Amino acid sequence: MGPSSLSSAMTEQPVADQGAPAEAPLYAVVVVHSHLEHKVSSPEDTSPEAEEEDHLTRAFHYLVPEAMRAEIRIGQLVWVPFGSRYLQGVVAGFDERSPVEETREIDKIADPEPILSPIHLQLARWISEHYLAPLHLVILSMLPPGITQSVDIIVSAVPEVEPATVTKAQGELLALLRQKGPLTMRQIIRLSKRKDARAVVNQLVGHGWASKRAEVRPPRARPKLVPVVRARAGLRPDDLPSRSPRQRQALEYLRQRGDEWLPLTSAASEAGVPPAVLRALADKGLLELAQRQVWRDPLEGHAFVPVVPPRLTPEQDAAWQAIAEDLARPAGRPFLLHGVTGSGKTEIYLRAVQQVLAQGRSAIVLVPEIALTPQTVRRFGARFPTTIAVMHSHLSPGERYDQWHRLRAGELRLVVGSRSAIFAPLRDLGLIVLDEEHEWSYKQEKTPHYHAREVAVRLASLAGATCILGSATPDLESAYRAERGEYVHLHMPQRIMGHRHILEEQAAQLGRAQERYQSAEPGLEETMYTELPPVEVVDMRAELRAGNRSIFSRSLAKGIEVALAAGEQIILFINRRGEATFVMCRDCGHVLKCPRCDLPLTYHSAVDDLICHHCNYKTFVPPQCPSCWSGRIRYFGTGTQRVEELVRQAYPRARVVRWDLDTTGGKLDHERLLDQFIKGEADIMVGTQMIAKGLDLPMVTLVGVIAADTTINLPDFRSGERTFQLLTQVAGRAGRSILGGKVIIQSYTPQHPAIQAASKHDYAAFYAREIAFRREHWYPPLSRLVQLVYTNANAAAAQREAEKLHRILTLKIARLGLAEVGLIGPAPAFFSRLRGKYRWQLLIRGTDPAALLRDMHLPLGWRVDVEPVSLL
Ligand code: ADP
Ligand code: ZN
Ligand code: ZN
Repeated sequence: MGPSSLSSAMTEQPVADQGAPAEAPLYAVVVVHSHLEHKVSSPEDTSPEAEEEDHLTRAFHYLVPEAMRAEIRIGQLVWVPFGSRYLQGVVAGFDERSPVEETREIDKIADPEPILSPIHLQLARWISEHYLAPLHLVILSMLPPGITQSVDIIVSAVPEVEPATVTKAQGELLALLRQKGPLTMRQIIRLSKRKDARAVVNQLVGHGWASKRAEVRPPRARPKLVPVVRARAGLRPDDLPSRSPRQRQALEYLRQRGDEWLPLTSAASEAGVPPAVLRALADKGLLELAQRQVWRDPLEGHAFVPVVPPRLTPEQDAAWQAIAEDLARPAGRPFLLHGVTGSGKTEIYLRAVQQVLAQGRSAIVLVPEIALTPQTVRRFGARFPTTIAVMHSHLSPGERYDQWHRLRAGELRLVVGSRSAIFAPLRDLGLIVLDEEHEWSYKQEKTPHYHAREVAVRLASLAGATCILGSATPDLESAYRAERGEYVHLHMPQRIMGHRHILEEQAAQLGRAQERYQSAEPGLEETMYTELPPVEVVDMRAELRAGNRSIFSRSLAKGIEVALAAGEQIILFINRRGEATFVMCRDCGHVLKCPRCDLPLTYHSAVDDLICHHCNYKTFVPPQCPSCWSGRIRYFGTGTQRVEELVRQAYPRARVVRWDLDTTGGKLDHERLLDQFIKGEADIMVGTQMIAKGLDLPMVTLVGVIAADTTINLPDFRSGERTFQLLTQVAGRAGRSILGGKVIIQSYTPQHPAIQAASKHDYAAFYAREIAFRREHWYPPLSRLVQLVYTNANAAAAQREAEKLHRILTLKIARLGLAEVGLIGPAPAFFSRLRGKYRWQLLIRGTDPAALLRDMHLPLGWRVDVEPVSLL
């Protein structure tokens, strides 16, 4: 047995050549992973050591036993001996020859139904090549975690072996095994009452007196189920119960809904009858009743979800026509659906899903984070209650496992989930939707560093599916591709839409009149419109000149008081990376930048130096502003973490919560805080990036951005884009309820193009400026980057290693004559010390920079991120 590369000789069919003699051996290339053993893998472990351990080639040739030939398929999960261990692996291909002489046999097929389809295997290879990630890690990230966890270790005594001398403990356990037969590890611990049972079993196995094998355990948990109903098919008018008007009414309603399954409680309330009426109808056999999965919804009871598709507006319809045509005949070009929050994009996704399901195909809808997009998830759930699988991080392994099986069996055909849901085992995939396609969370932070958007585009083309990327602030990369015609650009109007019913519901709940939304589209009674919220940009330099040294401008302070007095809610937005220290002139807003990279320099107090984290340019802090000669040139960015404290001091009677997913504290804590805020138990929420995401909070009428400068001045070429996206999304949080809202952005550089464009909701202006900047400096999307990060406990060693790789790559570039490929750095990474270790980074830039590394084995300690979303 030896490592095999997945060679081109490898085939996807077990019988490659009909002419080959029947007795010719057949080898399967099996991708094994130690995590497919009994060990529970920890997805959080992104430490370099954990990655290093896995960066070994893990594809091996195994002989397919004669008896297994008829059943073995590509993509199957099999059990194989591996050294002294017994592991699971996935069949990635077949071969007639083995690169090594001693080849062991596949022990057995774990599941006759392939765990990965041929399309998914092709996708895995593409990810592995494109992102320079080991194939076994790619495959592992495609599989449901349940598979890696539902394995029991079975121990049995080896018969006819009489050990001469045994310890007391060894003797006891051997006797136990002989008496009871094979036992699981857990049973042994329970029966022997020995705490050291595991170690003793290992001794027995080591001596060859006992053997261990792993066995798949059935899933432990099932998803929570709720009752759903629909009218029995083929009901005739005379089947309607004549004596009960309420039953008649309910049945009439459900009959109109066709064969769609509806949750019992919502169907009852929509039909205007108590649930008992529906149960009575089910008892009479007029309704069908079944059980389906549900999910937690923090906004339950706080927002109404329309189940009946509304008529599309003309703008929606134009976009929909283009998509519908592609669903009928996929042309292979993804759609970029660009429309402000509330322009009706989700309604289009819903249509597309409906169409695909009606064709008997399946669909994947990706959202950045389930917990932050409850409304979106609910809308899909309400419309497709019986075909939907919601994949979120709170599912237990058992639930995941179960869902995965139901998807593979075709029982469920719609997946709504975050990043890894892109790998859901769906058949006949017809549609992939990526909502909020610009979100960074679509990029995986650990190996494989894939971007779900790129994977989605690739998967859609492999499967012949339609792909829709939706956003209010498309990623520059996507907008650039749309500009070049690689994507089809669909634009939706720059105004916010509301459903009349939802708005009325909201008005009733809040006890206020609905006056902001107007009906504007003749003939569309359900559709209401409002303008985007006003955005005020406050010049903090002027505040300072006027003697206001507080972090609250006069305008923001006033806004907070007004909102508090009206009993409305406020969100104050701070930057998580508040520790970023750049140097800025408080009088003119000038920021010191690297002359080579045009990116802000970072101040390091230890050496009292300014440094560029891209190219390692160093300089001293000037005593005066080079732009206006003011002496008030300061380090900036510290202290923003204190916003909560300052808010409490300034408004002692306001109830303040801080919501920050990035700081310590469990996820459930944050959800509790969010619930608190939604229920109106707090007045002010202080939070980071996270709060800018999908939530609609009707009572929030003021959103304040404390210091837009901290985001703008991060030393990353995407900081302008990031700021624009954040500000635009933050602004979107304020404007969607009937109460209206207002946004206040505070900044020392109010004239910054990203701030200006965001305040005017002007994507086109932002794009034009930003793409010019990228072109000038040859940053992505004009070029591509590979980020190499080296981590070491010793600072000098980290630097030496980075410089060494720089020399090697420089030589290689020269040898290959790759004039267009360039190196940036090496330089200490922005977060130069992480978990007590030093990090240095090196960037490769070119049109295909990964090509430089494809045939190279990087030394341990290096992390490779192809097309990184952040350089910090
Ligand atoms: P987006 O996904 O772009 O944020 P949504 O699809 O959520 O936009 O639409 C915003 C609001 O308008 C939602 O409440 C939705 O139910 C409603 N809506 C969308 N399209 C229509 C329509 N054609 N008629 C009436 N209401 C609509
Ligand atoms: Zn100045
Ligand atoms: Zn530089």
